Amino acid sequence: FNMKLINLVQLVAESVEQHQIHALKKRQRMTFHSSIEKFFVTIDPNRIHQVLSNVLSNAIKYSPEEASIDVNISQEEECTRVSVADTGIGIPQKDLTRIFERFYRVDKARSREMGGTGLGLAIAKEIMEHHKGKIWAQSEPGKGTTIILEFCK
Ligand code: ATP
Ligand code: MG
Repeated sequence: FNMKLINLVQLVAESVEQHQIHALKKRQRMTFHSSIEKFFVTIDPNRIHQVLSNVLSNAIKYSPEEASIDVNISQEEECTRVSVADTGIGIPQKDLTRIFERFYRVDKARSREMGGTGLGLAIAKEIMEHHKGKIWAQSEPGKGTTIILEFCK
């Protein structure tokens, strides 16, 4: 890990910008809002970009054409939360913690079709734990999923 003092708001904005191109291919609308301009945290920017990249590509991959994906940053005292809310297929309640296990995929047949390995969120969780951060999921099957990343000073 190569830790640096980074403006998280800018890093997230850049990751979103990179993924907007992929969202456009499915005519999805990916928006970004932040209630703060700056939040400096000591992180490994490449690793956190990797986390964001997986979460943003999951939102695209598991949402239909023309879905909207909203990325938000909000401040809660010493902590900042980055949320990625999609309007995709959702995740059943019983799988919400298991998706962070290695190779765990909700629908095996469908996942095979979609490609990938089922490692993305397991790696994301390890990286967040190295940053004393947290990652969790909220979802309503058929309506959408929100992945939340929390960073604290
Ligand atoms: P990889 O990230 O290795 O390319 P993957 O995307 O299938 O493969 P993860 O990112 O670890 O693997 O996600 C694990 C599983 O969680 C997925 O296979 C999918 O079933 C479910 N999942 C993750 N994100 C979402 C989402 N936004 N909406 C619905 N299901 C999701
Ligand atoms: Mg993934």
